[in-house]
Formats: sequence, C-alpha cells, structure tokens
Amino acid sequence: MLPNILDIAQACNVEIDSKTYGKKETRAKCPFCQEDAKPEKRKKFYLSLNTQDQVYRCFFCGEKGGVLKFEANLTQKSFTEVKEKYFGKNKKSLHPAYQLNAEQLSRIGWQKYKRNNFKDFLKNREQVENDWNQYVYTELVKYYALFLCINQLNGAKKIEAMKWFVGKCRELPIPKMYERIINQHNKEDKDLDKWAITGKQVARIAWKVSIKTVDIKLNDLFINILLADFFYKKVKIHSHKRRVSQKNNI
Ligand SMILES: [Zn+2]
Repeated sequence: MLPNILDIAQACNVEIDSKTYGKKETRAKCPFCQEDAKPEKRKKFYLSLNTQDQVYRCFFCGEKGGVLKFEANLTQKSFTEVKEKYFGKNKKSLHPAYQLNAEQLSRIGWQKYKRNNFKDFLKNREQVENDWNQYVYTELVKYYALFLCINQLNGAKKIEAMKWFVGKCRELPIPKMYERIINQHNKEDKDLDKWAITGKQVARIAWKVSIKTVDIKLNDLFINILLADFFYKKVKIHSHKRRVSQKNNI
C-alpha cells in the first residue's frame, strides 16, 4: 500500500492550509519553489495534495508526481530508496500491474482508470495483468509473422524492410520486442514459444496472399498480416466448433 501523502507532508514540516486539511484536495505551501513563502503571498498555498490518489502538484512551479517521489524530493533520498522502504528490496513484491508505465497502461485502456480511480485499479490488478499479457502476446504474434515475411524478401528490399521493421518494434512499449523476435528466430521449431508458433502460421497465410501482388509494399504486407491473424483466429474458432459438434453428433 502507498503511504499517505498528508502524513509525509506533515513529517517533512510542509505547512498545510488548515482550511483544507484532510480534504480530498489539501492545499499546502510549496517546498519546491517556495513562491508562496513570500510575505505578500501569505494567504497563498500553491501545492495541491490529492489525499485520495496520493499525488501532488504545484500550481506555480508545476512540480508534480506521486507520493513516493514527493517523499524522495523532500528527504533528499533517491526514488528507489523510498520505494524499497515501503515495498521492500525484492522487485517481485510489486504486482506486475503496478509496474506498468503510463504508455503501457494506455495501450490496454487502463491508464485513465488508474488516474481516476486508483483504489479500484488496485482491486482489478489481476485483470490488468491479464490484459497486458494478452496485448503482448497478440503483438508478438503479429510482429513475428511480419518479421518472417520480410525475411523472405531479397536484396535491397529486404534491408529497407528490416530497417522499417526495427523502427516499428521500437514504437511499441513492449520491452525488448525486437530482441525477443530474433531470439525465437534462432531457435529450432520444437523450442519455439507459443506466440512464435502462431506467428509462423499467420505468416504462412499472409505470405500466400502477398506474393500474388507483384510488388510488395510494406504497409500492404502489414495489412495482410492483420488479415491473416484475423483469419487464423476464425479458422481456429471454426474448427473448435466443428470438433464440439462432432463430439455431440450434431
Ligand atoms: Zn512550487
């Protein structure tokens, strides 16, 4: 659990506006810019402490962040030091959902939710983790298929396409995406991860469609991958239904 931002502020002698004390938005003197410490600004409190989400922001200097950063800045400790104080040294003690950054969360539609409703976000952390894993899996399948198709090209076209591909991988917030793909490519078939096996099947379908067009354009190839992925899923669902109906003698 995160520490209470109001407790931290008080422990660090931040001057709090008594009129707003304990409210969802508690106002205080900003210890970072100290603009409101000027005599003529006696009645101003520029620092806003959100006691529900445990975040802060100064309306004057713009300094903002979460409670851990707040404590780190006020006590001159490093962020890691403060984090370890509450969550321990072992990184694993932090739930995977909690380790996802803003961009990763926005890809799976959880970023706004986390910002607006942190408590519920924590309650849903298993779902967040599942959604993230599902997202990574789907992207790896598509990009592995794309990689395999590009690998079939020749000469300058292949070099150009690979450059494009590496750039595409870097655009995604999945850590070491390109490295993971290369790693699978160097493995024998029997050692492949599940996403790579699926990716290979998707690539086969996409390639068949692509070679019918004389000049392969990269964006067309990418669209073919998406279509093939969709088609592959449909075939799987279909054959599953067929198996079920055979079982039931329909
Ligand atoms: Zn400030």
